[in-house]
Amino acid sequence: MGQDKRWMEEHVLKGEDLLLYGRLLEEMDELPPEVIWKELRAAAEAYLGGGKDRTRLVHQRVDELIDALVARDHRFGYPSPFCHRGCANCCHELVYCTDEEALRIHEHCAEEGIAIDYAKLARQLEHVETDGHLDHTGGTTWNDQEEADQSCIFLGPDRACRIWLERPLVCRVHLAEQTDRHCRPHNGVENPEALGISYIELSYILSAVFMVHRDSVKKTLGRLLLGKN
Ligand code: SF4
Ligand code: SF4
Repeated sequence: MGQDKRWMEEHVLKGEDLLLYGRLLEEMDELPPEVIWKELRAAAEAYLGGGKDRTRLVHQRVDELIDALVARDHRFGYPSPFCHRGCANCCHELVYCTDEEALRIHEHCAEEGIAIDYAKLARQLEHVETDGHLDHTGGTTWNDQEEADQSCIFLGPDRACRIWLERPLVCRVHLAEQTDRHCRPHNGVENPEALGISYIELSYILSAVFMVHRDSVKKTLGRLLLGKN
């Protein structure tokens, strides 16, 4: 067994399964396993090495990485993401985050006087299928809700995110090109016309962080904020 795989098993997996997201899911059959383990280890080591500040640091790293990747693509003639603050069709679906992100969002809202609509959160959770541990099974009837309840509780009337600086990792790495028209999934199923941009560099980071926080991520942002864990 390679040393990177061994390190991941000891420090991150701890007997649990490997969780892969984004481009990694599409490309894992083509990538040599040792490359995947090496990159996952690098992402996990950087995250775990951030200590108490690791959530802020990984958000900063992801934002900077996106800027660098977009600039690189631009040099090769590829279009930049359509995404910007105030573009919010993607803010109408179930959101995942880590327990540490939820804690930071709570603190940020308290500091900035941002109201959290707990009643709406509770209503939304009725459309999220869970198992006996209150973990999300993957099933959702999100779009059966009233239109007003389908939006994230942090989406402002101007369609801007009210917790932009503290928005979760998933909101940062969710990128699309050309248009926002197809960015809204239906009951958790992505619109086949959606033109997502998926960078493998971000997939390694998201996968590593979500493996570290596998127990809280499956609770969803709503349940973590409500403290119903
Ligand atoms: S993913 Fe789509 S809706 Fe969301 S910010 Fe990007 S273009 Fe806009
Ligand atoms: S936290 Fe902000 S960016 Fe993320 S879904 Fe909610 S409103 Fe959109």
